[in-house]
Amino acid sequence: MCIRRLFRSSHLQWAWRAAFLKHSQCGHQGPWRWTHSGGGPYRAVIFDMGGVLIPSPGKVAAEWEAQNHIPSGTILKAFITGGENGPWLKFMRGEITKEDFLQEFRRICSEISNTSVPVDNFFSLLTSEQVAKQFPVMTEAITQIRAKGLQTAVLSNNFYLSNGKSFLPLDRTQFDVVVESCVEGVCKPDHRIYKLCLERLGLQPSESIFLDDLGQNVKAAASLGMRTIKVNDPEAAVKELETLLGFTLRTVIPNTRPMRKTMEIPKDSLEKYLRDLLGTQTTGPLELLQFDHGQSNPTYYIRLAGHQLVLRKKPPGTLLPSAHAVEREFRIMRALASAGVPVPKVLDLCEDSRVIGTPFYLMEYCPGLIYKDPSLPGLEPSQRRAIYAAMNRVLCKIHSVDFKAAGLEDYGKHETSTIPAMERLIEWLPLHLPRQEKITVVHGDFRLDNLLFHPEKTEVLAVFDWELSTLGDPLSDVAYSCMAHYLPPSFPILRGLRDCDLTQLGIPTAEEYFRMYCLHMGIPPTENWNFYMAFSFFRVAAILQGVYRRSLTGQASSATAEQSGKMTEFMSNLAWEFAVKEGFRIFKEMPATKPLTRSYRTWAGPRSPPSTPGARSYIPLPEPSSAHASKGALVISPEGLSPPARELYERLKQFMDQYVYPAEPELRRHQASAERWTPAPLVEDLKEKAKAKGLWNLFLPLETDPERKYGAGLTNVEYAHLCELMGMSLYAPEIFNCSAPDTGNMELLVRYGTEEQKARWLTPLLEGKARSCFAMTEPQVASSDATNIESSIREEDGFYVINGHKWWISGILDPRCQLCVFMGKTDPHAPRHRQQSVLLVPMDTPGIKVIRPLTVYGLDDAPGGHGEVLFEQVRVPKESMVLGPGRGFEIAQGRLGPGRIHHCMRLIGHSERALALMKARVKSRVAFGKPLVEQGTVLADIAQSRVEIEQARLLVLKAAHLMDVVGNKAAALDIAMIKMVAPSMAYRVIDRAVQAFGAAGLSGDYPLAQFFAWARALRFADGPDEVHRAAVAKMELKNRI
Ligand SMILES: Cc1cc2nc3c(=O)[nH]c(=O)nc-3n(C[C@H](O)[C@H](O)[C@H](O)COP(=O)(O)OP(=O)(O)OC[C@H]3O[C@@H](n4cnc5c(N)ncnc54)[C@H](O)[C@@H]3O)c2cc1C
Repeated sequence: MCIRRLFRSSHLQWAWRAAFLKHSQCGHQGPWRWTHSGGGPYRAVIFDMGGVLIPSPGKVAAEWEAQNHIPSGTILKAFITGGENGPWLKFMRGEITKEDFLQEFRRICSEISNTSVPVDNFFSLLTSEQVAKQFPVMTEAITQIRAKGLQTAVLSNNFYLSNGKSFLPLDRTQFDVVVESCVEGVCKPDHRIYKLCLERLGLQPSESIFLDDLGQNVKAAASLGMRTIKVNDPEAAVKELETLLGFTLRTVIPNTRPMRKTMEIPKDSLEKYLRDLLGTQTTGPLELLQFDHGQSNPTYYIRLAGHQLVLRKKPPGTLLPSAHAVEREFRIMRALASAGVPVPKVLDLCEDSRVIGTPFYLMEYCPGLIYKDPSLPGLEPSQRRAIYAAMNRVLCKIHSVDFKAAGLEDYGKHETSTIPAMERLIEWLPLHLPRQEKITVVHGDFRLDNLLFHPEKTEVLAVFDWELSTLGDPLSDVAYSCMAHYLPPSFPILRGLRDCDLTQLGIPTAEEYFRMYCLHMGIPPTENWNFYMAFSFFRVAAILQGVYRRSLTGQASSATAEQSGKMTEFMSNLAWEFAVKEGFRIFKEMPATKPLTRSYRTWAGPRSPPSTPGARSYIPLPEPSSAHASKGALVISPEGLSPPARELYERLKQFMDQYVYPAEPELRRHQASAERWTPAPLVEDLKEKAKAKGLWNLFLPLETDPERKYGAGLTNVEYAHLCELMGMSLYAPEIFNCSAPDTGNMELLVRYGTEEQKARWLTPLLEGKARSCFAMTEPQVASSDATNIESSIREEDGFYVINGHKWWISGILDPRCQLCVFMGKTDPHAPRHRQQSVLLVPMDTPGIKVIRPLTVYGLDDAPGGHGEVLFEQVRVPKESMVLGPGRGFEIAQGRLGPGRIHHCMRLIGHSERALALMKARVKSRVAFGKPLVEQGTVLADIAQSRVEIEQARLLVLKAAHLMDVVGNKAAALDIAMIKMVAPSMAYRVIDRAVQAFGAAGLSGDYPLAQFFAWARALRFADGPDEVHRAAVAKMELKNRI
């Protein structure tokens, strides 16, 4: 099936079973530490260097002589020639240089062997990095000794190199005291040098144990009263030391245990193989342990002489034909190592089943940390984040490997066995396969506990368990490594993070993890990551189902296998949840390819034939004009926006996150302070930032500003998504110069203003330098009916003279308010809708008196406020008239349409924010023994709010869409409908949030109280609900009879 395209893996069933089994059996967390204490009477261990910590010169010499055909024993004899005054001891007391020593030594060797001896060559070997390397068993022992609080020292007969430094190829920090013969001018077995060492340790001889490979040195130490060990074999010496000290000197290898009976491998045959492989230097017993990890392909720890290795083999018994391919693991690890991916160094592949019964391969053992719990308990949030970032980076590294150059071109052509599957997903997954599939090396089991971390740095030292690796879609690895995010912490086969507060823990969310990956890889953000999550869970579910089947037929009988049957359902449900999410994402992103030629509107246009009462009718609209045709997409979520609009949306979102939300507390403080009637400096600062980022004047619709002369040129639908985002904060609209009443006034000027009027008023408003107000409502008349407006506008000496009393004039108290768009009566005798006119009145005109600020539930909305104002004999030039006398009603209608929808868009934002705040709050507060979120009524409130927001948004978008395709006038009814719906919806949603918050919801600490007041006020402002209801009803009755 074509799912293989996504993940070309084979033998999944057994491999997966094993991959999961191993987790069910992992008991303890993190590296295990030996805690027992001891040491008896001893307080220090003193080590000789050559022959104890590093290979002895004598042994190195013996091998070198054999290889170079030098008579055996030549070097050893030359060492002792001359005794105290021989070149070797002089050299070790630092009395002669290396060059002098080599000259003399060469002569002596030649005399002994009667042949020319290349001593320089021997000396280079003796001091080379590959030979002069500390035995791991000694490194472990020193670590353990120091961990128990005992001191360590090195007491060495050594020499100076040509560079003037002494020869001590050891990490000096392992020792409390370092005593070197060439530095001190005294050699062992001279007592003085032992005494010097003890003095520096501050100990009596009886408090120390001394280890040396030379009998005379050991004897001298013993004669001083030191406890001694003569070292022939480092492994055996460590065992003896353990007995004296009374505690173990071996690091316990984490996650290992004695071999299981059924998994034992023939030790003798393996030992022989290893000795042949590793060379003759390998002395000491073979230690063999089995790892808890890797039971699919059983994995063993091996210690032999200085070597620590890991062996991975096929399991015994009959296997599926393509399963447990250790050869593939060996191949990929070797290839990836040379491509710079951190993997354990593989040493050898043995395909000969006669050695231990099955093929196997060997790799170096890497010590380090493995984190089994993905919530990383005990670490700081910053450390957790760093670990996940390191995990992400190493995955990018794997996926960046040029697999062709690495010789892996045919690696993925490994055909799969049949995957048992869940019906819906089997149908769904192939239909939603990503279009552009990139092929890389895919690990196939990439998760935190398959990574080995450096103990001190957040660096991945090695990536393990390549059994499921293949070539395929790299994003399947990314999704796979996020599975824990969706599983409960108690999930049996993989500990989950589902109920953890990831932000608090510092762990990236799955979405952030995907984003991080895309950023590292330099690819666009993965939008269909839900598909990959669905696929990952499907894959696991399919494998678990296979295991379950085998358990039923008796082929696999473990309890875990049976448990996997129950887990299959859980996993497949999870997979399906992601499939559904992906479905919604696709749906939301689906833009209308062309403007709707059929509308969902329920009015106007040619009469429809009578329809069944209550049934929805779809009445064809008049064909939209070609201008409309280019902008007629009804996009129901930001994901479906056109690329430029989407980009603008993302920038806006980022700005909100980065600047606006963090500024809210400061802006709230300002609003409560005595300075509140002057604009907050922070708002001015943010306005500059927004302007610099091009997030400015986004509101002017393409319809009004087709050449994008004044604004961003968005359609109403596009702006709806951005405006909603701005509505998430009460302060945001002004920051982007998108706030009422300026937006309505600016649109009025663009549509109806003369060039002079535009130059005088529009320019400063667009620049955000000036602010404005709209004065219509009057206290003495019912202003919901605009024809009631009584203020008079009289013509006098080439001027208009205004007299009137207004109130609820928003923004008039703002010191930046320079323009008042005034509505009054020019001709009380004209037909009702021709009596009104609109004037542009400069705020500094004499006769304008702001009597008082009004408050909404006690909130004064400073600095703009809502003012009660008297206009007494206010004279303005005749050029202040907009469009002409008697056109006021028409202008008000044109102005109110977009203004109303903007309010509704912002109200959706208020509601979303209120619901988000509510959700966070009810998760964290506990009442009567359980979190508020578990109380039934709270759940019902959340569900109700979600549904209502979605309904209102769709209606707002529909109205915006109609404004785009048929114009504001034709959309008037839809605008009336949303004006009816949105404020009361927001009011209810915010009210529920306030209720869930408790008294805090009423305070000024959260935006809820202000949101609430504003939503309530908007049931009046821009016309009361009833007026809009009446308009909708009238139209409904008119068109449905
Ligand atoms: C916060 C806020 C800001 C405002 N900003 C401005 C502004 O900047 N500029 C401006 O000019 N105005 C502004 N207003 C005023 C607003 O536009 C008016 O309050 C609104 O138009 C209603 O007018 P009114 O208050 O005179 O109510 P009235 O007209 O007296 O109506 C009172 C009530 O009568 C009922 N009613 C009215 N008509 C009908 C009907 N047909 N059927 C059934 N019942 C009906 C409704 O319940 C209505 O609420 C603002 C108001 C508020 C609250």
